[in-house]
Amino acid sequence: MPQDRTSSWQSMQQSYRANLQQKALQLNYGWQHYQAEFNSDNRHALKLLSQQVAGAAKLFGFKEIADSAAYFAELLRQPFRDDLSQRVQENNSYAELSNQLEHNTRHLSRFEDAGSNEQQKPADPLQHGPCILLFEPDVRCANQLANLLRHQYYDVVVETDSAMLSSTILQCQPRLILADIRCNHQHSISAEAIRSCNHQLNYQPAIVFMAAEDSFELRLLASRVGCDHVMTKPIDNAQLLSHLSKLLPKEESEPYRILLVDNQTETLRFYRHALSMGGYKTFEASDARSAYALLPEARPELVLIDLNLPGCSGQELANIIRQDPDFADTPLVFMATEQAKSMKLADDHFIQKPIAPWRLLMTVEAQVKRSRLLKQQRRAVIQRPELMQHIDTLTALPTLWQLKRELQHSQQQEPLCLMKLDLDKFHLINDVYGRETGDLVLQTIAWQLAQLLSAQDHLYRESGDEFWLLCRQLHSLEQAAEFTEHLLLTLEQISANFDVSIHFTASIGICLSMEQQQPEELMQHASSALYQAKKKAGHQYRFYDPEQQQKIDVRQQLTQTVRQAIQKRQFTCAYQPIFDQQQQLVSLELLARWHHASLGDISPALFIPLLEEQGLIHLLTRQMLEQGLPQLKQWREQWPELHLNMNFSAQDLTDPELSQQLQQQMAMHQLPNQALVIEITESILIQAGSGAFEQLKQLDQQGFAISLDDFGTGYSSLSYLDKFPVSRLKIDRSFVQRIDEQQQDKLLPAIIHLAQDLALEITAEGVETHAQYEFLKQFGCERYQGYLFSKPLTAFDIEGTAWFQSKQSRYIRT
Ligand code: C2E
Ligand code: CA
Ligand code: CA
Repeated sequence: MPQDRTSSWQSMQQSYRANLQQKALQLNYGWQHYQAEFNSDNRHALKLLSQQVAGAAKLFGFKEIADSAAYFAELLRQPFRDDLSQRVQENNSYAELSNQLEHNTRHLSRFEDAGSNEQQKPADPLQHGPCILLFEPDVRCANQLANLLRHQYYDVVVETDSAMLSSTILQCQPRLILADIRCNHQHSISAEAIRSCNHQLNYQPAIVFMAAEDSFELRLLASRVGCDHVMTKPIDNAQLLSHLSKLLPKEESEPYRILLVDNQTETLRFYRHALSMGGYKTFEASDARSAYALLPEARPELVLIDLNLPGCSGQELANIIRQDPDFADTPLVFMATEQAKSMKLADDHFIQKPIAPWRLLMTVEAQVKRSRLLKQQRRAVIQRPELMQHIDTLTALPTLWQLKRELQHSQQQEPLCLMKLDLDKFHLINDVYGRETGDLVLQTIAWQLAQLLSAQDHLYRESGDEFWLLCRQLHSLEQAAEFTEHLLLTLEQISANFDVSIHFTASIGICLSMEQQQPEELMQHASSALYQAKKKAGHQYRFYDPEQQQKIDVRQQLTQTVRQAIQKRQFTCAYQPIFDQQQQLVSLELLARWHHASLGDISPALFIPLLEEQGLIHLLTRQMLEQGLPQLKQWREQWPELHLNMNFSAQDLTDPELSQQLQQQMAMHQLPNQALVIEITESILIQAGSGAFEQLKQLDQQGFAISLDDFGTGYSSLSYLDKFPVSRLKIDRSFVQRIDEQQQDKLLPAIIHLAQDLALEITAEGVETHAQYEFLKQFGCERYQGYLFSKPLTAFDIEGTAWFQSKQSRYIRT
């Protein structure tokens, strides 16, 4: 296999997309023509185009496009009538087809963006070059040998330091190790190094030892590390090269060789294209006879055979191939347009035409890799059965054996998220629709899930319908839950794309390990979590840790009820006062409150993100305005200068009507715009881009005051402040808290001074102690908010406080 499978795969995706896009363009062009002039010539041209689209789509495995295009072509084939009903029919059919084309090209591009499945697979021993690692402490000897080998076009890495041998082996993953074996009291450093690496490599390199003298002990030692040949020094060059040519057959460094047998040239072309883009070398035959004749030259490692061949059926050809001892073990994959249910095809694979390119690659890859490994193994007298366990023959995914290794080698303390995924009642699909359909479902799942993973994540197939996922990117509970929900949604979509009757659901068990755990323990935890998830059945997931699960349960419950809560107007307002240096009440900050019927008071830190996720936050903002503005109006009768601070979210600012609507609302309640202070966070400024900037400018021009909330927690760069129409700054609670801990804090005074230079009015929030208050006051902070003065209160309670009632208000702690 070539090194850059990923880029090959991407370029294949691109070429399919380009092809479909080109077809879509042509079709569009033909349609325009036909619309401009309804004549039979234009109609004929359009019909030909849609037939081409149908053919191409069928070839690429896009069944819906193929069907729609064929239907459209059929419509156009009918006699030309030039009446309205016919046009309507054609128009609908065209619209459907062009929609599908657009959808599918987009779909393909998503795969491209997601990168290929390849990147998440473990190192492939066969991919690790035609490299020979030469270990020879004698530098002169080493150079001579290296020159000899390089002269023969071998790629050679030389190591002369025995202390470095293991790490060099692991680093360059050679296909052959040619090493000096120096024995000292039946101990050899190089043999020891190789032995220790054997466990860490997931393949077995060929080994040739060079020894100063021969002995039984030395031979025994060599054979115990899996050595293929021992050569005594001085090395006979011819003999060495002969050993190497047997141990490193050239074909192994070449791409996999595939023989394609199909009598349809279009199909052959398509398979050739898909496979060569995937890095395979293909040979083609259009009938059984020429396929047989091609065997010696092609030396295929896999034969892809159409069952319906003229003269001699695909199955007969298979028998002929099997009779040839050289090809008796070559894997065969059969293709047919109709499922040949009566056929019994031993170990061979069967795929149904038309086959999507990804599936063709997946099937071929799984078979061909295994076959090469088998061949490679045959030269070893002692077989290593585990070698065979590391590629799943259906999906080409690594197996459970690989997962265990990966877990064993993971860094200690590295946070890991291990998931076990299982389909619910999958056996029903096998029982009712047959294994072929079951296989298709499993392959589709493997493929689609692999698209969701990042380069550091791994997907494994255990057996049957059990998959494992090892993720290193999910550090928090919420991230893990979100990713799992995304997985389940993807599975739901996969299920929906199958025949309606083939419906399946999945369950996932999750173990989130933050500290070091044994692989078995981790796996056992994920399994037992899966068991819990299975009890509920149907797109469910569970965390192993009950505490984690409880948090997620609450989140889920809230997610489900937050929309209702908005609809039922369950959110109420609390108000927290803001005082000036003279301890006069100047403003009230409105804070949303939600009392959940069963879960009690829910923190805004929980429900605000949920509302944002569901795109509902603007509804909360509206409801808060509807409650807050009349209240402000009423309070201003007593406190004419009173302001209301309100929190706005990034999504609020993306509404282009916002400033206009706010102005209307203010006018409706006979309030001046200046009475409203809009609080936004730094991240909004950074993320929301130019739209938000324009919006803020407009609000500022209309007289609303804009205050930067939680200052100091985000990017904390004062440099951009003068670019935005911000007139106030709220110093975050965390800064204020630090005052007690380090009286010498220089940052806070610096922020206050800078803000003063920029003529920004400063509010400190979260002021809880007298010490904090005095410190802030000393540096000229202008406004104060916090528990020292008052907690957020209901409107009713506000009116009951002494500081609200007494005009000469002096702050009194409540
Ligand atoms: P925020 O805008 O920073 O609001 C200040 C938070 O600090 C409030 O928390 C308040 O109760 C708390 N707080 C005030 N003084 C003190 C103090 O002295 N000590 C301590 N420990 N805490 C104090 P709350 O009400 O839980 O609100 C959390 C966040 O939720 C708010 O942070 C705000 O970002 C958001 N939020 C609240 N209501 C709304 C709303 O209607 N719309 C939007 N978009 N966000 C809201
Ligand atoms: Ca705020
Ligand atoms: Ca704040």
